[in-house]
Amino acid sequence: MKTVCHPKTRQFFHIMSVRVRFAPSPTGFLHIGGARTALFNWLYARHMGGTFVLRIEDTDTARNTQAAVEVIINGLRWLGLEWDEGPTTGDPDGPRKGGHGPYFQSRRGEIYKKRVQELVDKGLAYSSEGAVKFRMTREPITIPDLVVGNVTRVLTDREEIDPDFVLVRSDGQPVFHLVNVIDDLEMGITHVIRGEDHLANTAKHLALFRAFGAEPPKYAHIPLILNSDGSKMSKRDQGASLMTYNDEGYAPEAVLNYLVLLGWSPKGNREVMPAKEIVEMFDLPQILRHNARFDMNKLQWVNWEYLKTMAPERFVELGTAALQRAGVSLEGYTPAYILAALSTAKEKFKTFADLKPFVDFYFQKEVEIPAELAAKQFTAESRPRLARLRAAYAELAAFDHASVEKTLKSVATELGVKAGVLVHPVRVACTGKEIGPSLYHLMEVLGKTEVLRRIDRANA
Ligand code: GLU
Repeated sequence: MKTVCHPKTRQFFHIMSVRVRFAPSPTGFLHIGGARTALFNWLYARHMGGTFVLRIEDTDTARNTQAAVEVIINGLRWLGLEWDEGPTTGDPDGPRKGGHGPYFQSRRGEIYKKRVQELVDKGLAYSSEGAVKFRMTREPITIPDLVVGNVTRVLTDREEIDPDFVLVRSDGQPVFHLVNVIDDLEMGITHVIRGEDHLANTAKHLALFRAFGAEPPKYAHIPLILNSDGSKMSKRDQGASLMTYNDEGYAPEAVLNYLVLLGWSPKGNREVMPAKEIVEMFDLPQILRHNARFDMNKLQWVNWEYLKTMAPERFVELGTAALQRAGVSLEGYTPAYILAALSTAKEKFKTFADLKPFVDFYFQKEVEIPAELAAKQFTAESRPRLARLRAAYAELAAFDHASVEKTLKSVATELGVKAGVLVHPVRVACTGKEIGPSLYHLMEVLGKTEVLRRIDRANA
């Protein structure tokens, strides 16, 4: 609850502040559908100045492991979706950094027991063959959904005969419907934003809220994410796991931006916009009602747009991480050198996974030149020319890209050849490759001493 003062009438009144949650079951995998659900909840909380809760639905103890929980936490952290509250973990080195952990249903057994007793006392739940069952209403239930509209429960044939359902299994395990509703109730959740696959459960959930004598939250069921061919996305489909985008060198901010477009469309049809602006614009009425199709080309395009305009420090941060993943060690190089080196590769590649071949030569003590490239570039004809260029470079006081270019061109003129005749062997000497960043810029970054050393090695 928040107390606010009306700007005109000066009257004080209370408003319910928004409380939303992401409630994944730890399966060892964070599906992009799940990541998008988390994102929509987070965006709505941030947009409304509300609270975003992370609740791990881990009552199915057989399937849950610490590692599976970490997958979820790492995925949310990667996207930058911080949750706002939870019990203090007291673990200073844990992934939750001694702050507040997510809520774990596995630690809330006492709460569930009390609530089940409440239903039994009210005569709304009863024991049956060792289990506890809920006396489900026989009346039709209409779900007022913020995205889908009003949805009325249709009973299945089986439910026609017996709509009651199990709340606590005979082995004492409370079922999903029960703990999901108790926690939404106990945690004061105001809006349940979740995948449309849960719409089929919501009549049960509304009936449980009523049984507890509580006002249910508002529901917003978001359409599913389909493969590009319209089929349902499963675990094994390309791009289904959020963290593959990290491995494949996508910028998390680009993935976030792309995910929000899967099922939400801002006014004015803008597509690429920073998270801050998305937070300002995001609201539930613009959630689209039709299923979204996953489009890898579009994600690549969004990523490309981010790469082009990314702040240099961020570019280096993501680039460094990608190079480390690819086994390129940047140890011993100054941040200024790394920044300058990576900057020459900007706009040369689509994801950070493709960065390595453009910059690895900067971080090699002895550049390897493939034999066939050496044979092609360092010939009886080219060697003396390269020596002449080396001598001119040795004379240079300033070794910036402009002087390096000017010198190369004047040596070419002096030798009566085209600039390209010198460009190729120098590039191969410096980088071991025929393609890469702008030659003059890369030589500036390597510096005079290193360029001369590399030419000498190649032209020995
Ligand atoms: N644990 C459920 C799931 O992962 C949560 C459903 C909900 O958001 O209410 O699908």
